[in-house]
Amino acid sequence: MPETKAPAQLRPETDVLTRGFDPSLSVGSARPAVFRSSTYVFSSPEAAERAFDIMAGRAQRTPEENVDLVYSRFNHPNAQILEDQIVPLEPGATAAAVFNSGMAAIMTALLAVLKPGDSIIYSVPIYGGTQTLIQSFLQSIGIEGIPVPAGQGAAIDNAIRGARNLRVVLIETPANPTIVMTDVKRVCQTVASLPMASSNGNAPERPLVMVDNTFLGPAFQHALSLGADVSLYSATKYLGGYSDIIGGVALTKDVALMSKIRSKRSLFGNILQPDECWILDTRLPTVALRMNRQSKNAQRIAEKLASHPKVKKVYYPTLFEDPEQTRIYREQCEYPGGLVSIDLKGGKAAAFDFLRRLKLARNAVSLGGVETLACHPRSTTHSAWSAQDLDEAGIGEGLVRISVGIEDWRDLLADCEAALDLV
Ligand SMILES: *Cc1c(COP(=O)(O)O)cnc(C)c1O
Repeated sequence: MPETKAPAQLRPETDVLTRGFDPSLSVGSARPAVFRSSTYVFSSPEAAERAFDIMAGRAQRTPEENVDLVYSRFNHPNAQILEDQIVPLEPGATAAAVFNSGMAAIMTALLAVLKPGDSIIYSVPIYGGTQTLIQSFLQSIGIEGIPVPAGQGAAIDNAIRGARNLRVVLIETPANPTIVMTDVKRVCQTVASLPMASSNGNAPERPLVMVDNTFLGPAFQHALSLGADVSLYSATKYLGGYSDIIGGVALTKDVALMSKIRSKRSLFGNILQPDECWILDTRLPTVALRMNRQSKNAQRIAEKLASHPKVKKVYYPTLFEDPEQTRIYREQCEYPGGLVSIDLKGGKAAAFDFLRRLKLARNAVSLGGVETLACHPRSTTHSAWSAQDLDEAGIGEGLVRISVGIEDWRDLLADCEAALDLV
């Protein structure tokens, strides 16, 4: 018997195309209209009062209730449509909030829960902006940042058990650019096993686990299903998919936690604008298609280049040598993804030569677009690091990171091989 599912349990690729948008609210348009208004006309003074009560948290919206929109810094139809359509892409999510960058999503989620005196544990390497946010900004307002090495389960457990006033554990997996994976389920289990402490006489609060899921989500890694409380994205990357938009998303299982994040977003004024929401919305139905193609391409290229005489090492999940890394990959990810890092023999000169000679892949930072991009992390995305930290993290002089696109993999491989021959 073929399996039949009730509409509420549709799979993500179907759900994203069939829910969250009501054409009758866009004069029958098959795709959403763009609502560029900054303010909304209330249906009655009572409805206005009710909308403000709900926005301020003085009243709770009932499930069937239609609350009037107020003002576009708080909420607007294109954000609502995008959020409703993005939720089914992230298994376990019940709510989403969209932001005008990935950094805005990360900052707002953190500041929704952290206060002076708290501490945050974070995996390293982590995105450079996130590292600066924690080490410079959060530290300066009295929030202690505790770095832990990505992938080192026992060290992370110890840090979680030993931290004072721990409020957030922020994991980025896989880590950029060496694709080191951290076991999200283990982190969540360790956090769940902590004795519940009461901070400042308030109700006891368990620390929250947040995952920057940009590299393998939403198609291949499901942070919330693995136990995380918040899944964060730079939508600039795979979600946006065409290197033409900056955006960010936070998703939660818990609606109350999302209310806290949304209220900070209203305050900071970093909601994604209507036109950008509309653009990002058009990209959602193809995220899984694009990521599958990028992953297949990347795997073929990575596995071929691993035996190339000019290549010292290729960093890619199917080429992991550490059995623990392989175990995490198998348990936590559905496919290996579109990012490949190649360490070239011959150091920086070889890496620069290679970048100069690539004809199809363009030399640019960022990732996740349909076109292939390549960069030299040590002199660009990770140039603020000390030589010792770079060496310890395996970010060598010869390392080139490639974000593989949806071109034909044989052309991309030929491009890489031709560039390598000339190095
Ligand atoms: C790009 C990126 C960010 C920051 O996102 P922006 O959209 O540039 O603000 C955060 N985390 C990861 C993993 C990223 O790749």
